[in-house]
Amino acid sequence: MNDSNNSRRDFLRKSSFLALAGLGTQLFSSSILKAAGGSGLNSHAEFTLPPLPYAYDALEPHIDKMTMEIHHDKHHMAYVTNLNKAVAEGNIHATLEELIFNASKYSMPVRNNAGGHWNHSFFWKIMKPGGGGVPSGKIAEAINASFVSFDEFKTKFNDAAMKRFGSGWAWLAVDANGKLAIGSTPNQDNPLMDVSDFKGTPIMGIDVWEHAYYLKYQNKRADYVGAWWNLVNWEEVAANLNLAGKK
Ligand code: MN
Repeated sequence: MNDSNNSRRDFLRKSSFLALAGLGTQLFSSSILKAAGGSGLNSHAEFTLPPLPYAYDALEPHIDKMTMEIHHDKHHMAYVTNLNKAVAEGNIHATLEELIFNASKYSMPVRNNAGGHWNHSFFWKIMKPGGGGVPSGKIAEAINASFVSFDEFKTKFNDAAMKRFGSGWAWLAVDANGKLAIGSTPNQDNPLMDVSDFKGTPIMGIDVWEHAYYLKYQNKRADYVGAWWNLVNWEEVAANLNLAGKK
């Protein structure tokens, strides 16, 4: 273990960003530590695919098993693979959060694939089987303070998800004033990126790329978004809010 590895680990431990995403050190395989202490060549961070926190069919009937298999094993995997390729080709030594925060400094392949990796790692965790319903506690208070009522919040979030033209995401984020805000981003951008028009710390988000719903819902994005509310992991969203408030 050399100094640079120690500082990398310290950074990961202290980073509320990673804690927020629930990613922690699992983003980095142990091979990166070995590689960095080895030949000195090819010592780029190796990003890895996090496992789904539930079975592929656990979100049925709202999201079908085959969609989850393809979405996680193929789409998310491809973002990870292509991110590793892009940082190797660009000789970039940076953590995932550095790539995201400073997206404007990097190539489109880095921006798209770092975003894809972060967004999906986040997305899996804010869903769970038997989720949904109306939240209580601090998250409910924060929603009511910003949007008057849960119903109005839901309407506004659905609107953001529906009006995002083409591929992208809708988000609930904590803005610079500490208030909750709803917005959307194109492609694999997210509100943490310096290039994003909508900025904040995401605490909840929905993938509205067609690959997230097309097998079951075809062109009916509204039906997918409506069903998705049955999966929201409010405990995770509340934990994200708590972490975002402590930044
Ligand atoms: Mn996706």
